[in-house]
Amino acid sequence: MIAKILDGKALSQKIKDDLKLDIEKIRQQGITPGLAVIIVGDNPASRVYVNSKKKACGEIGIESFEYTLDGNIDENELISLIQKLNNDKNVNGILVQLPLPKHINEEHILYAIDPVKDVDAFHPFNVGKIMIGKYDFLPCTPAGIMELIHMTDIDISGKECVVVGRSNIVGKPMAMLLLAENGTVTVCHSRTKDLSEVCKRADVLVVAIGKPEFIKGSMIKPGAVVIDVGMNRIEGKKLVGDVEFASASEVASAITPVPGGVGPMTIAMLMKNTVTAARLQSIK
Ligand code: NAP
Repeated sequence: MIAKILDGKALSQKIKDDLKLDIEKIRQQGITPGLAVIIVGDNPASRVYVNSKKKACGEIGIESFEYTLDGNIDENELISLIQKLNNDKNVNGILVQLPLPKHINEEHILYAIDPVKDVDAFHPFNVGKIMIGKYDFLPCTPAGIMELIHMTDIDISGKECVVVGRSNIVGKPMAMLLLAENGTVTVCHSRTKDLSEVCKRADVLVVAIGKPEFIKGSMIKPGAVVIDVGMNRIEGKKLVGDVEFASASEVASAITPVPGGVGPMTIAMLMKNTVTAARLQSIK
C-alpha cells in the first residue's frame, strides 16, 4: 500500500483563502481582526514560527502587532503588557510564543490572557470548555489535525484512535477531539508499556513526542491514518517528523508529510480562531 499524502499546505491555503473572503465581509461591518504576537528572547525556532504567523495574517487581512521582548524581561512586565493588550480594542487575539525563558512561569503568563482573546486555547477556562464540548476556540494543532483526518474517508466513530504524547498543547486536547467524534481513544506516553503493540491497534494514529522518526512502519496497522505532529531538526538542517515516513507510508492508507502536513494547518487554525475572536468581541 502506498499512502495518500495528506497535504496540509494545500488544505491550509484553502482555509486561508476562505478566511480572506470572510474578513473582507466583516471589514465592511467595521471589524478588522487583530492578532498580537509576543516573542520573548531570541530562540531561532520561535522567530521562524512568529514570522510565519505574521505572514499568514498579512496574506488574509488580519492586522498583526508584534512585541519582541528581551529574554531577561521580568515576569510582571510581561503580564503588564498582556493586561494592556487585554484592554486594547484593536487586538482580538493574543499569542505568547512558547517556550518562554526559564525564569518566567509559563502558567502565570497563559493565565493572564483574557480567555476571549486566547486564540491558542491554552487558558484553563478554554481547556475546560473543550472538555465539556462547549468551546469558542479549539487549540490550533489538534483542530488542524481533525481537518486533515476529515480529508480521508475514515469515519472516526467507533474506531481505535491512539495518541502518542500527552502534552497540554497537543496530546491531551487531541484525545478530547477524537473522543468528541466517538473514537475509542488511547493516550500513550513515556511510561506506556509495549508502545508498538498499542500503536498497531490504531485505525487513527497521532504522534506528538518530539523524537525523530521514532515510529516505524512495523508499528503501524495496515491501512491506518497516520498523523505526524513532530518537528525535529536533524543535522542542523533537515526537518523530520516523529514517524519514519518511508516505512510508514508503505503501510498506512494516509499520512501527513513533514514539513507540509500539520505545521501549516496549525497556522491556518490560528487565523480562524482570530477571526472567531473578532466576531465574538464585536457582538459583546
Ligand atoms: P512535549 O510537551 O515535549 O511532550 C512530549 C510527549 O511525548 C510527552 O507526553 C512524553 O511523555 C511523550 N514521549 C516522549 N518520549 C516518548 C516515548 N519514547 N514513547 C512514548 N511517549 C513519549 O511535546 P509537544 O509539545 O506535544 O510536541 C511534540 C512534537 O510535536 C515536537 O516535535 C513539537 O515540535 C511538535 N509540535 C508541532 C506542532 C506543529 O504545528 N506541527 C505543534 C506543536 C508541537 P511523558 O509525558 O511521559 O513525558
